[in-house]
Amino acid sequence: DPDPTLRPEPLPEDNDRALRPQVLDDFIGQAEARANLRIFIQSARQRGEAMDHTLFHGPPGLGKTTLAQIMARELGVNFRMTSGPVLAKAGDLAAILTNLEARDVLFIDEIHRLNPAVEEVLYPAMEDYELDLVIGEGPAARTVRIELQPFTLVGATTRMGLLTTPLRDRFGIPTRLQFYTEDELYEIVTRNARKLGAPADPEGAREIARRARGTPRIAGRLLRRVVDFAVVEGDGTISRELADSALTRLGVDPIGLDGADRRYLGLIAENYAGGPVGIETLSAALSESRDALEEVIEPYLLQQGLIQRTPRGRMLAQKAWDHLGLPMPASGRQ
Ligand code: ADP
Repeated sequence: DPDPTLRPEPLPEDNDRALRPQVLDDFIGQAEARANLRIFIQSARQRGEAMDHTLFHGPPGLGKTTLAQIMARELGVNFRMTSGPVLAKAGDLAAILTNLEARDVLFIDEIHRLNPAVEEVLYPAMEDYELDLVIGEGPAARTVRIELQPFTLVGATTRMGLLTTPLRDRFGIPTRLQFYTEDELYEIVTRNARKLGAPADPEGAREIARRARGTPRIAGRLLRRVVDFAVVEGDGTISRELADSALTRLGVDPIGLDGADRRYLGLIAENYAGGPVGIETLSAALSESRDALEEVIEPYLLQQGLIQRTPRGRMLAQKAWDHLGLPMPASGRQ
């Protein structure tokens, strides 16, 4: 199995409040999203109204949950958190909604995985702050309408394409999060190293930033592992040499790809002459779910220009052949 350190999904150790930015001013990167949110938060505060429903979409580990928490803090309201797969029945969501106080933020992670019966309840709640509950069964069943406090729904999804149109249309503020630049990750690593009490040389921090796959969650994990090596095998400070040797031992290559990324690229190169090859074929050959390939592995490889998505399947780009140190086959050149 791949080393969980290298995957962007949450792990228990991520619940480190010390490293999570608490206010918008401490949140690095996503400049456009941040600038817009600042206006919408201030406007909601000045009008004394609930902020409009907000949808964050983008790959895991880019700060969707963190931004939702910051919104609640800056709005001065409670933060309630749940997730699509956890809400099995309409009543589960109704219980949460009826307990919200005025203007609270309700965060629903993985909102593309809501069960349709639960999603139905959400529509009138989002639109009119109303809940239609069915009481009883059969001919005796009747509907009662319950008024809710105005609230802000913040949805997060890694798969915008899987959201139903009626749900997507009910978010006034859809916001796409981007992969972070090396400079932004450098700032995050430097700041977090200081918070962890393990100062990083500029070159050491830069090495971690360059190899963090554009993702703050991965930068945080790699930093912790490098700190472990620094404490045990070094003098506690993070130099470039130490970061490089630790990351190499963790299986992170010079451009930040991990074993799963390299298996993906290697398979297309060696078994399919560079593609095109269909996603289902790749999923079967790699024993990885199609979701994992589409949500976790491919977005970064696409962003880095290592692969291309074509109507006939995935293809390696020249940059991937160079990275693998293999010649591009003649049939692949166009
Ligand atoms: P998501 O909900 O998109 O999967 P999270 O909000 O849980 O991602 O963020 C993942 C981790 O990365 C958290 O530990 C968080 O503290 C850190 N993080 C995310 N964005 C930033 C940022 N802009 N600056 C500093 N740390 C960040």
